Amino acid sequence: MSHKLHVQATGVTKSYGSHLVLAGVDFTVRTGEVSCIVGPSGSGKSTFLRCLNALESYDDGTLLVEDRHVGYEYRDGRYYEWNTKQFAGFRSRIGMVFQRFNLFGHLSAEENVACALVQVRGWGKAAARARAGEELARVGLTQHAHKRPHQLSGGQQQRVAIARALALDPEIMLFDEPTSALDPELVDEVLEAMKELARQGMTMVVVTHEMGFAREVADTVHFFDAGVIVESGTPAEVLGNPQRDRTKAFLAKVL
Ligand code: ADP
Ligand code: MG
Repeated sequence: MSHKLHVQATGVTKSYGSHLVLAGVDFTVRTGEVSCIVGPSGSGKSTFLRCLNALESYDDGTLLVEDRHVGYEYRDGRYYEWNTKQFAGFRSRIGMVFQRFNLFGHLSAEENVACALVQVRGWGKAAARARAGEELARVGLTQHAHKRPHQLSGGQQQRVAIARALALDPEIMLFDEPTSALDPELVDEVLEAMKELARQGMTMVVVTHEMGFAREVADTVHFFDAGVIVESGTPAEVLGNPQRDRTKAFLAKVL
């Protein structure tokens, strides 16, 4: 698996109408690094993640993912917006896991994972199923491969969603509050699967309220507030010894 991809955002802005949601985001992820984004609800974290995988456009600033300008191609001295194929190609290299797992209810866990390989990569069914089995094993779900989503717990469903993203061999994995919709007793199994992925060297950007996970796994923690990254550093720096008043106020509430 390739881990060459890195992210560099400089002054990224985005508005919905007159509402400035990203007010100049500066953000860097090195290859193989785990970056955790923490911050209050409504501060723009999800919008920023959606910009990173080109599900959403940005208005201004520079957003580079592995030296590609997200959404634009530089040719003959000017920028051209990507065509549909370029967008699809880019998105297919980025794994995304949401709060809600969005599995197909009528398909088994294995079929849910295999289906992405068939549809996005054009694999044959047998090869896709074999690969799906491997990815399910990686998140500890071999015994549950034949089950449909309703026969699985929320934590197991979220691990299927992670396996589905991994099957496409992503260069980077983005997680948007992957455990927020889960019952408390199901959170750990999902965090464990994510920790294992981090140990394997996957480049990860994780929006989370799980401060224990951030402290243990993150190389860098970014505190996001009102559309900007207010403070970045190691977990010990940002969570243990925050410098900005806004970071201190937020952590006082959640820790
Ligand atoms: P967070 O993930 O940090 O909770 P979001 O990125 O979801 O924050 O939202 C940031 C702000 O942008 C919020 O005020 C939200 O209401 C607004 N917003 C998000 N998506 C849209 C949209 N599609 N249209 C209009 N406003 C939006
Ligand atoms: Mg969000």
